[in-house]
Amino acid sequence: MKIAILSRNAGLYSTRRLIEAAENRGHEVRVLDALRCYMNITSLNPSIHYRGEDLTGFDAVIPRIGASVTFYGTAVLRQFEMMNVFPLNESVAISRSRDKLRSTQLLARKGIGLPVTGFANNPDDIEDLIREVGGAPLVIKLLEGTQGIGVVLAETHKAAESVIQAFMGLKANIMVQEFIKEAGGSDLRCFVIDGKIVAAMKRQGVEGEFRSNLHQGGSAKLAKLTPEERSTAIRAAKIMGLNVCGVDILRSNHGPVVMEVNSSPGLEGIEGASGKDVADLIIQCIERKVAPIATANSLP
Ligand code: ADP
Ligand code: GLU
Repeated sequence: MKIAILSRNAGLYSTRRLIEAAENRGHEVRVLDALRCYMNITSLNPSIHYRGEDLTGFDAVIPRIGASVTFYGTAVLRQFEMMNVFPLNESVAISRSRDKLRSTQLLARKGIGLPVTGFANNPDDIEDLIREVGGAPLVIKLLEGTQGIGVVLAETHKAAESVIQAFMGLKANIMVQEFIKEAGGSDLRCFVIDGKIVAAMKRQGVEGEFRSNLHQGGSAKLAKLTPEERSTAIRAAKIMGLNVCGVDILRSNHGPVVMEVNSSPGLEGIEGASGKDVADLIIQCIERKVAPIATANSLP
């Protein structure tokens, strides 16, 4: 197969591992910076150009689109889809997962365990909003945040009020959540490929930090999931429509609650913690999904 990886940097651990895994399995790989792709959106004959070259002949595309380039990146991915190139994750599923509010609503509708969550737009509604989610301490999240940036713990009612006011004043979109104190600054990252959990790790924030993100200095080790946690992660991936994702779960005293479903989960932490060749499993997933399509296309 000829596989494209949409990534801004071929030197990143995850990108390097995917290149290695694909080449080891006999595939041809090209790393493309989505921001350098430009497109001709003609009906019946869509095309993508790259530094003067016409991109053709790809069987599959692996999107590794950073949160800051979601808009343009998913447009490029959509163009590949229009050209019948198999996307590891579909553009629409990526956009869905990048919107914390939209994904929380989708998961809630299907009965997935979530922290009690509220959102509001008008400062006049702050008091009610705080009451709705059970009062302080509570967590306030910027909807556009990633890697733990823009996630704030407000310990008191007064702090909650002023942080929410400040964000609203800046016209930032936020949601407000019950603080899952019992998680103790740790969460579970469940790595799902094609409806199966291939590895899971427990991430622990540094001392005094309630956020477990590795980008915030957290550490990771292998985790053993309960059956309820496994089914929650698998169902969340399915609801979001992602073939490959990282489902982040907190252990709360009302059961596992989903924090977020990440459509470009990093490989370094999970491969390190689990010792598994997750990159190889991703390429195998593409092989399984593309082979039947290729056969169908070659029928008379
Ligand atoms: P991001 O997308 O920026 O990683 P998350 O919503 O995943 O934001 O939050 C980052 C981290 O903060 C989580 O992994 C978790 O450790 C902690 N956290 C987030 N929300 C809560 C909450 N409601 N209760 C307790 N901890 C939380
Ligand atoms: N991009 C990384 C991931 O989602 C972030 C890791 C983290 O900080 O938790 O896997």
